[in-house]
Amino acid sequence: MSIKDNILYFDEQLRDTSCRLVAVTKTHPVEKIKEAYDAGHRLFGENRVQELVEKYALLPHDIAWHLIGHLQTNKVKYIAEFIDTIQSVDSLKLLVEINRRAEMYGRTLPINCMLQIAIADEETKYGMSCEEAEALLQSEEYRQMNYIRITGVMGIATNTDNEQQLREEFRQLRGCFDYLKAKFFRANDDFKEISMGMTSDWQLALEEGSTIIRVGSGIFGQRDYSNTSR
Ligand SMILES: *Cc1c(COP(=O)(O)O)cnc(C)c1O
Repeated sequence: MSIKDNILYFDEQLRDTSCRLVAVTKTHPVEKIKEAYDAGHRLFGENRVQELVEKYALLPHDIAWHLIGHLQTNKVKYIAEFIDTIQSVDSLKLLVEINRRAEMYGRTLPINCMLQIAIADEETKYGMSCEEAEALLQSEEYRQMNYIRITGVMGIATNTDNEQQLREEFRQLRGCFDYLKAKFFRANDDFKEISMGMTSDWQLALEEGSTIIRVGSGIFGQRDYSNTSR
């Protein structure tokens, strides 16, 4: 299937749901991204700052870009002017810097931020526990921020075919969302997103309440890392 066909397939699959597709473009050239754009897609995700900045410059500016990979504090400045959503916020320190840079650029719209929650069984490097997310939202520093808004939670499940395990991890993320929603965002409609599910498990994630699936290889084909440092 062509990239266009894949986009139309996901449009169809998500039509009667409240779930959206972030098309994950990492390692893929702008010509391929343009095919998805020409099929009408406007929501894209990258996991590395440098690659994101390069592609942002080469592609139409009505694309909403989501950063989905770990963000170092000293790189926030490169994306703060144009980024739509940072899905991978994993510390208060990072959020402070995002807010500071958004203010410096005088953005008219706040930067949407999602709290990355560790749900996989591996000892993963990134992501907070739900308790840490709670502490962040309780902090005085967070309450003073005017240039970001928290739109939900994001999680990366274990790389496994074990359906039961995947469901449990997705339920854990949804449970965390429900808890934070009830405690901090009861009257705030901005907090509504649960980003979970990738090429191999998006259907399960959708059944478990995902509102954003992040699909890369299922749209653009296998990634070729041979000419990168990864
Ligand atoms: C690469 C990536 C994806 C997409 O993975 P696929 O298996 O190609 O769909 C989703 N989320 C994150 C955080 C990623 O880094």
